[in-house]
Amino acid sequence: MKTETLPVTVSDLRYLKGVGPKRAQALERLGIASIRDLLFFFPRRYEDRSHFALISEVQPEQTVSVRGEILSVKLKPIRRLRLIEMIVGDSSDMIHAVWFNQPYLKKTFQEGQQVILYGKVELYKNRLQISAPEYEVIESGEEAIHTGRITPIYPLTEGLFQRSLRATLHDIVETHLDREITEYLPQILLDEKKLMGLREAAREMHFPTSPEILAQARHRIVFDEFLVFQMILLRKMERLKAKYQAHTLSIGAETLQRFQATLPFKLTADQDKVLGDLLLDLNQTVPMNRLLQGDVGSGKTLVAAFGLLWAAQNKLQAVLLVPTEILAEQHYKTLSKLLEPFGIPVGLLTSSTPAAKRERMLAEIKNNKLHVMVGTHALLQEDVTFHSLALVVIDEQHKFGVYQRAQLFNRNPRPHQLVMTATPIPRTLAFTTYGDLAISTIKELPSGRLPIKTYWITRKKQDKVLEHILEKIGQGEQAYFIFPLIEETEKIDLLAAEKEYQRLRLGVFKDIRVGLVHGRMTKEQRDPVMDAFRRGEIQVLVATSVIEVGVDHPNATMLVVENADRFGLAQLHQMRGRIGRGHKASECFIFGEPSTDEGRRRLRIFANTQDGFEIAEEDLKLRGFGDFLGTRQSGEPYFRVGNPIEDEALLREARQTALELMRQQALEKDPAWKGFHAHLEAIAVHY
Ligand code: ADP
Ligand code: MG
Repeated sequence: MKTETLPVTVSDLRYLKGVGPKRAQALERLGIASIRDLLFFFPRRYEDRSHFALISEVQPEQTVSVRGEILSVKLKPIRRLRLIEMIVGDSSDMIHAVWFNQPYLKKTFQEGQQVILYGKVELYKNRLQISAPEYEVIESGEEAIHTGRITPIYPLTEGLFQRSLRATLHDIVETHLDREITEYLPQILLDEKKLMGLREAAREMHFPTSPEILAQARHRIVFDEFLVFQMILLRKMERLKAKYQAHTLSIGAETLQRFQATLPFKLTADQDKVLGDLLLDLNQTVPMNRLLQGDVGSGKTLVAAFGLLWAAQNKLQAVLLVPTEILAEQHYKTLSKLLEPFGIPVGLLTSSTPAAKRERMLAEIKNNKLHVMVGTHALLQEDVTFHSLALVVIDEQHKFGVYQRAQLFNRNPRPHQLVMTATPIPRTLAFTTYGDLAISTIKELPSGRLPIKTYWITRKKQDKVLEHILEKIGQGEQAYFIFPLIEETEKIDLLAAEKEYQRLRLGVFKDIRVGLVHGRMTKEQRDPVMDAFRRGEIQVLVATSVIEVGVDHPNATMLVVENADRFGLAQLHQMRGRIGRGHKASECFIFGEPSTDEGRRRLRIFANTQDGFEIAEEDLKLRGFGDFLGTRQSGEPYFRVGNPIEDEALLREARQTALELMRQQALEKDPAWKGFHAHLEAIAVHY
């Protein structure tokens, strides 16, 4: 091993052989500021160039590595091109290699040298040739870097070149790796989990000895990433626990029994179980952080109502936060009805609450006169001060920015938090993103619900569907027609919705009443239409995606989604939740002719699956991990090598290990864990 003293501090990347100030800058754009960073900058993929083909056996169209002697090199001007033509021979035959406009290569190659070529073989003028192959001249006794091995392919950015970056890495892996990288996992864990040492793993990640050893190296690195991330999450959670207390709900549990008795139905077994979890959490001084997932209409809100009621019984406050005004109003009505028998008033606060009324309500919130509030983000404004906020229920959390929530929760006592979602988060993702969240799931729907049939309709059959809908409307049922509304083209889409509304109203539905609602309408314009639909005076409601969440109207049994391919899977599923709420069979028709395979795949999955969990998993697979999370915020996970979807088993194992470590508190005391402890401290600042 070479050990000359090369500079190792941050700015010294540019003194590395083959780097220089320009490339150092390019590296910095990739987040690489030090030699150590560079050592942990792993290849994006590998090409197996380790097997040499005999030239006599090479076929056109194959991508091959060949090794042989340079028999001749010539620089040939062909018209304006400058062509390097090389002939290489091994013991079996000869092959041509050509490069265009790289005349300097004439100096790189000399007759008699050993060379490795890697590239795609073509038949040109009846002879085999490789055009612009990867090449490497092998000095006797030297190891090949670019060819003749499992070759790393690094992610690049402007100003970086595969060949020079690879050479630099080969260099520093030899000269710096042992000094820069020290193992931080204790031997006992390495043994137990059969993990490769960190140095070896890092070296193998760059220049693998064999596919099998590379797999072990990757295993180590990915486990490491997941473990570190889980540890950081769990420790953050511990710190929060130590820092914050919650109001404990304790008295008045018998009211909950009475509440249950007033309901015209029995809770499903899943609801029962979730309710148990919830009540247990609310009874603790540790702030609850629970995710409640269940399909639309599975009865989540009803479970939450128990929590709201209980808080009020304890003379504490609770809020239900929802993403839209329509939803807020609807929940307000439902909750008022449910809680009225218990003498508990419910307040409604949205951005259209009149100023005077708002003023009055804010005073009542401050004085603890109002215990249960429903509202939109209007409830999160700074001048809304709660007297003793004990519980925050967030409906459809993916609509709320994380930061918006923060201010409500960064106070002591900290309210318990229940997040409800009808877009189930695959467990994989829950572990990684919301590692500090307890998860409850309602899988079964209340009994008596009929499954919704979904049909993907091509343009030709659409008229037939409209006839069918008309017929069912004749039997007293109602239908939604939904149009996509996408931000950039909102105006055009709105026009499309209005045009379609006119077309339906004047055409096939001319004898019935059709209403239109869209997001640009004010509450005053929208409400009468919604109410008329609810009362059955309007039979068809044409809407942009504003009705995506919330509307609860059991008599609506038909849903048509136009241009369905412009919606995401999860969104489509949400919309489908608007129907199938009553005791009559419901039908969903998706109109759409996607131009991409992915679009077709999405619609096919949607038409064939009603299970929200399955849809969420498919969505995750289709969109990939990063995209599923949406915009990455600081604090969200980032894995360089690991992929939570593909490496799910490893993720679980790492989580298990992290939980055990937390339980044993091994880190603080045992000297064997000192290195890992320090590593966590150092890395935690990036989260
Ligand atoms: P979610 O919030 O999951 O969409 P909701 O709580 O709004 O579901 O419930 C949807 C509808 O089903 C409501 O009308 C509610 O009263 C009703 N419901 C809830 N639980 C049950 C149950 N166990 N049996 C019958 N109906 C139920
Ligand atoms: Mg709901």
